[in-house]
Amino acid sequence: MAIVTAKDITKTYSQGKVKVKALCGVDLMVDKGEFIAIAGPSGSGKTTLLNIIGGLDLPDSGSVMVDNKKFSDMNQAGLASLRLHKIGFVFQAFNLIPVLSAVENVEYVMLLQGVPKIERHKRAKTILNDVGLKGKYNSRPAELSGGQQQRVAVARAIVSGPAIVLADEPTANLDSKTGKDLVLMMKKMNKEKMVTFIFSTHDSMVMDYAGRLVTIRDGLIVNDEIK
Ligand code: ADP
Ligand code: MG
Repeated sequence: MAIVTAKDITKTYSQGKVKVKALCGVDLMVDKGEFIAIAGPSGSGKTTLLNIIGGLDLPDSGSVMVDNKKFSDMNQAGLASLRLHKIGFVFQAFNLIPVLSAVENVEYVMLLQGVPKIERHKRAKTILNDVGLKGKYNSRPAELSGGQQQRVAVARAIVSGPAIVLADEPTANLDSKTGKDLVLMMKKMNKEKMVTFIFSTHDSMVMDYAGRLVTIRDGLIVNDEIK
């Protein structure tokens, strides 16, 4: 069953008079439970594609459907609600809230979703245990290593059982050992909790762990293989 269907997506950025074609007609279907890497060199369109699938940015043409909901049929509020309830995001730069502890960062999304306090605290602690951060509940981001911060970000992204998690170069700011451990942890969550992950990378080590590898170059998918 397709959880993401992107059809013939194009996107051009204008910087003054200069136009940059970031995506030139991308088709991508992702099934529930996939662990898929979008690979390609810097500037190939990975971030643009993930932002469009996540409803953070709109394509110039083409259509996107996540969890059977077509973005073009939704208004701003509908799209915001879909993002909040159905899509988890992990960014290259961790993007945790610095003044909140690990457990509060994970709880924050559930707070926005209206999950009662006791329930969200319990779920946040459980998921932090799952990602290997037992005992770090009360640490703030600055007190955690990069790898630990990214684990909090993954915990935050998956805690509410989203339809998909989008991770834009989640290991780019980590050393290779820490990056590998993070990807293995994501893979474990994929297997155990059936979380669908779509992550971008230009690290060949990270690509090796993907179940499917989609290669993008100059805004076009040039290879798509199940591994
Ligand atoms: P990647 O994530 O693979 O490095 P991006 O999706 O960030 O690629 O970028 C694809 C192309 O679009 C690049 O040529 C980049 O310079 C350009 N681009 C991305 N974002 C913008 C923007 N906000 N304004 C202008 N050009 C952009
Ligand atoms: Mg990028």
